[in-house]
Amino acid sequence: MSSEERWIEQAECAKSKHIEKREFFFSNKKYEQEQAKSLCFACPVRKQCIKSALEEKQLYGIWGGLDQGEIRRALSINWEGQEMRRGKYPICVYCSAPTAKLKTKTVKRPAGGRWATMRVVECSNCKIEWQSRTSANAVDAYHAWLAERLAKSERDRIKNQKIREKNKAKQAAKDAKAAAKKKTI
Ligand code: SF4
Ligand SMILES: [Zn+2]
Repeated sequence: MSSEERWIEQAECAKSKHIEKREFFFSNKKYEQEQAKSLCFACPVRKQCIKSALEEKQLYGIWGGLDQGEIRRALSINWEGQEMRRGKYPICVYCSAPTAKLKTKTVKRPAGGRWATMRVVECSNCKIEWQSRTSANAVDAYHAWLAERLAKSERDRIKNQKIREKNKAKQAAKDAKAAAKKKTI
């Protein structure tokens, strides 16, 4: 076993005291799934487990506290195995940080293959990374939307400031006119 794979030895689900709960990781019953997830949230290697499950595209069972739906959403793979469009902006798969904390990058694909590079999402909070072109596109779309929102808010601020200054100047001119009129009377 390579040093990278040694984390499995620390897995909470591998401990003999949890032997009767192992099948819960592949159960269809909600309360059993919840028990499996609670083991994951107490597991010292949850982060490595999520990373490995996403790298190996483990689409069945509970891994790192994520159920099949959550893993499929992170990888943007629907129940038919097709790449799907995201309905919502992604959050971090490990620490649940919001989309604003996620970044994207293009990295070399380790195993080569048809494409030389792949799109990766990275959490700036916990540093976990996972590969998903659709999630990366959704993160980029979020940042573009946010940048446009901030730019609009800045444009509105400048516009309102100009209106206020114009009104102030108008009022000053009015006051000066009124004062001059008063003097002549
Ligand atoms: S995170 Fe969950 S599935 Fe992964 S090793 Fe730990 S207990 Fe097992
Ligand atoms: Zn995170």
